[in-house]
Amino acid sequence: MSEPSVRRLVLVLGDQLWLDNPALAGSDPSLDRVLLIEAPGEADAVWSHKARIALFLSAMRHFSAELRERGWPVIHVQLDDADERAAGRHRLEQRLAAQLQALRPQQLHVCEAGEWRLQQVIEACASEAGVPLHWHEDTHFLCSRARFARWTQGRREWRMEHFYRQMRREHRVLMDRDEPLGGAWNFDADNRKAYPKAGPGWIPPPARFEPDETTREVLQLVEREFANHPGSLADFAWPVTREQGLQALRHFIDERLIGFGPYQDAMWNDTPFGWHSLLSVALNLHLIHPREVIEAVEAAHRECGPQALPLASVEGFIRQVLGWREFIRGVYWQQMPGLRDANHFGHQRPLPAWYWTGQTHMACLRDAIGQTLRHGYAHHIQRLMLTGQFALLAQIDPRPVADWYLAIYVDAIEWVELPNVAGMALYADGGRFTSKPYVASGQYIDRMSNHCQGCRYRPAQRTGPQACPFTTLYWAFLDRHEAALAANARTALMVRNLQRLSPDERQALRAQAADTLENLNDL
Ligand code: FAD
Ligand code: SF4
Repeated sequence: MSEPSVRRLVLVLGDQLWLDNPALAGSDPSLDRVLLIEAPGEADAVWSHKARIALFLSAMRHFSAELRERGWPVIHVQLDDADERAAGRHRLEQRLAAQLQALRPQQLHVCEAGEWRLQQVIEACASEAGVPLHWHEDTHFLCSRARFARWTQGRREWRMEHFYRQMRREHRVLMDRDEPLGGAWNFDADNRKAYPKAGPGWIPPPARFEPDETTREVLQLVEREFANHPGSLADFAWPVTREQGLQALRHFIDERLIGFGPYQDAMWNDTPFGWHSLLSVALNLHLIHPREVIEAVEAAHRECGPQALPLASVEGFIRQVLGWREFIRGVYWQQMPGLRDANHFGHQRPLPAWYWTGQTHMACLRDAIGQTLRHGYAHHIQRLMLTGQFALLAQIDPRPVADWYLAIYVDAIEWVELPNVAGMALYADGGRFTSKPYVASGQYIDRMSNHCQGCRYRPAQRTGPQACPFTTLYWAFLDRHEAALAANARTALMVRNLQRLSPDERQALRAQAADTLENLNDL
C-alpha cells in the first residue's frame, strides 16, 4: 500500500517563528507536516554578515524544537544536509521543490513572506509542483497590507505622521478619549538631544544572551561554511527564542526606555547601542508581537507615572513601533517590485570598499561600520545620517547600497530594509514618502557626536586639504540639485545659504567635490 500523502504542508519561513503563525491555524498534527528550510542560497544571495546568518539558523532550530515539543511533526532541512548537497540543492526554492515532490502534499500553506522575491519563488514552486498554495495574512502586523493600501487611496502624499495618528486612534494607543495623551502627538522638542559634552555617562547595558548548545553549534557551522563572509561572531548574544525576546523587552522597559527619547539621535565613539531597545531582531523574527511591545510600554508608563517614565520617551518609542515600523512595511508592498530598481538621481558609482571593512579615515564612519562588523547593529541615526547619507552624497548606485544593508544588519529583512534605504536614506524613489532628502553637513554629525574630535577632517571646512567629505559633498549636492531643492519649502533655506557663496567659492567647491568623488576609496 502506498503511504498516505500529507494533507497540508505548512512552510514556516525563517522570520515567521511564532506559534500563532496563521499558516499553522487549522492544521492537524496527525495529518499535516511543518517544514522549515535552511538554504545556503539565502545566506549568499547578498554577502551576509556571519551574525545575521547565525541568528536566523539558531532561531529556526530553537523554533523547530519548540514545535516538536508541542507535538508537531516537523521536517527541518538543515543547511549542510548531505543529501541536499549531493543533489546540488543550494537555494531555498530547490529545496522546497524537492520536498513538494517527495511529500506530494494536497495543499501548501504559508504566511505572507517578508520579501517580494520569496513570495514569487514560493508561488512558482507550488505552481510547478501542481500543489494548491494558500497564503495567510501576516497577523504579526497591526496594519495589514490591504489596510495600508486602502489608507494610501486618494492620498497625494504618504506621510508617516498622518498614518501614525490614524494608527493611534484605531488601536487606542496613548489616547485620552479622542485626544492624544499629554495633549500632543509628538514630543520631539524634548527628544533628539546630543549627549552632554562630557559624554553619555553610564548607560545600563542591553540584555544579551549567552549562546546555548544549539547556538554554539550554529556558530561553528557558520564559521566553517561562511568563513569569508563579513563580520564577527565573537560577541553574538542576540535573542533566539520567544522567552529571550520577552526578557529583552522587559529589560529594555525597566532599564533603558527612560533614556530612549532624549538620546535616540545621539552618537558617541564606542557606544554602539546607546539607549536603544535592540528589539528589532525579536520583532522581525516574530518572536515577540508589536502589540505586546506597545502594551507593555504603555502599561509601564501608567504604572510608573510620567515622572519616572516620561511621556516623551514612551511616545518616542511607540512612534517607532506603531508608526514607522508598520508604515515602512506598508510602503514596501505598495512600492514593490519597482523600489528595487529605483534610482531617482541616476547615481552609478560603486560602493567604496571600506563599507565592508570600516577602514576609512572618516572617524564617524569608521566607528559606525566598525560596530556593525562586530555586532551586526547600528542605530537609526548611524544608518540614516552616516552610512546612508554618505552613500547618497557620494552618488553611489542604490542597488549595491541596499544589498550592503540587507547583508550587514542582523535585523535586515527586505520589507524593512529596502524602503529605509532606497526611500528614506537615498531618496531613490524620488520622495514617495519623505518630504525631502535627508542631507546635512559634517557639522550636524559634529553636533550629535564626538566623532569629529578624533578625525583627520574638519566638519566646518568644505574645501581645502582637511575638508570634511560630508561637508564638501553636502554643499556639492545643494549645488547640483539647486533648482529642485529651492522649489521645496523644506530645503529652500539650505539653497539660500548656498546662494551666498561667491562664484569663486562655488568653483572651488566643485573642484573639491570632483576630487573627493574620484577618490572615495581613499577617504
Ligand atoms: P530602536 O531605536 O530601539 O527602535 C524601536 C523599534 O522601532 C525598532 O526595533 C524597530 O522595530 C522600529 N523602528 C524604528 N525605526 C524604524 C524604521 N525606520 N523602520 C522600521 N522600523 C523602525 N530596521 C530593521 O528592522 N531592519 C533593517 O534592515 C533596517 N534597515 C535600515 C536601513 C536604514 C538606511 C535606516 C535609516 C533604517 C533602517 N532600519 C531597519 C530602521 C531602524 O534603523 C532599525 O529598526 C533600528 O535601528 C533597530 O534598532 P533598535 O531595535 O535598537 O531600534
Ligand atoms: Fe565624520 Fe567629517 Fe566629523 Fe570626520 S569631520 S568625523 S568625516 S563628520
